[in-house]
Parts: sequence; C-alpha cells; structure tokens
Amino acid sequence: MNLDHVFVCGHPALDFAATLRARRSTRFEMFVTPERLNAWYVESGLVDTITPGKEDDVREAIEVREALYRLITNRRLGEDFDREALAVLNAAARQVPVTPQLTLAGRHTDATPGQALATVARQAVELLSGPDVPLLKECGNPECTRVYIDRSRGMRRQWCGMESCGNKIKAAAYRARKKTTPAAAAG
Ligand SMILES: [Zn+2]
Repeated sequence: MNLDHVFVCGHPALDFAATLRARRSTRFEMFVTPERLNAWYVESGLVDTITPGKEDDVREAIEVREALYRLITNRRLGEDFDREALAVLNAAARQVPVTPQLTLAGRHTDATPGQALATVARQAVELLSGPDVPLLKECGNPECTRVYIDRSRGMRRQWCGMESCGNKIKAAAYRARKKTTPAAAAG
C-alpha cells in the first residue's frame, strides 16, 4: 500500500478514522510522520497552510483517531458510546480550532496541527450527533474496514470506492467462480 491519502468516505471525520487501514489484518498506518499527518490536514481541505508538526502531534492525532473510530463503530452497530472514547474526542473538540481569515487574496486558513485536530474532532461531534448516522456503512471488502456515508438510493453502495475496493473484490470473485464450483463465499 502507498502513503497517498484518499478521501472517499463522504465526511472528513470518517476519512480521518480510516487513516489506519486494514484494521482487521495488516493495520497499515498512514500517519507515520508529522509530515504525513500535516499532508492529510492540507489535502483534506481543512487548512491551506500548516505549521510543522512534532511527534507529539502524531501521537495525539492517533489517540483521537482511535477514539473516533470506536465511537463510529458504536454508532454503526447501534451501541452506546464508549465513555473513555467520548472523553478523548470531547477533550480534543474543546481545543482552539482552525480559524479562516479573509485576506486580499481571499480566504486563507493557516493553523497548527493541534488546531487542525480540534477541527476534525468538532466535525466528528457533528457527524456522530447528526442525520447521517443511519447511513454509516463499513466497506464490503472485509480487508478494508473503511466506514463511509452511503447516500445511494436504497443504500445499495457496497464499497468505499470502486477503485480502492470494488474492482478488486469483483475481480477476485470472478477468479474464484472460474476456479471452483459455486461456494458460499459471501456470508
Ligand atoms: Zn473499501
């Protein structure tokens, strides 16, 4: 897997949670350095420019991300929120967030990694208390573990993305059909 960030989940908090990929198998970490974390903040559109980060910023971002993932899972499965995870997310949401400024060249947002994390946490609060909760769905590729908002008619979307997972699964299913007798693969 490469370290390019992808934004396919339909909400920044979900994309953020998905930066630990393949959670049930290889657990592929995207935030390997402060630079890769900052790249996420910029590429997500949250900030235009960001001050250089430290290892502590990565550690904090990962802590909040893991709490967020737990809360997303709670909501997706209709469970009560995990109290510890709530405390972590809410503490992050209380910090000073990103503030856009009006400049001669238009809107410009400069922030620290801490401010960017606070904004992600606030967006997560909105998501997990909002109308899209019933639309949360885990990708149909069991390896993937991304959670996205399914806005398709009848909620029939199966994958986080065709490119990331759909094509891969379809090709694998096709190969399996050719090789073996029809088996109860999908359950
Ligand atoms: Zn997927």
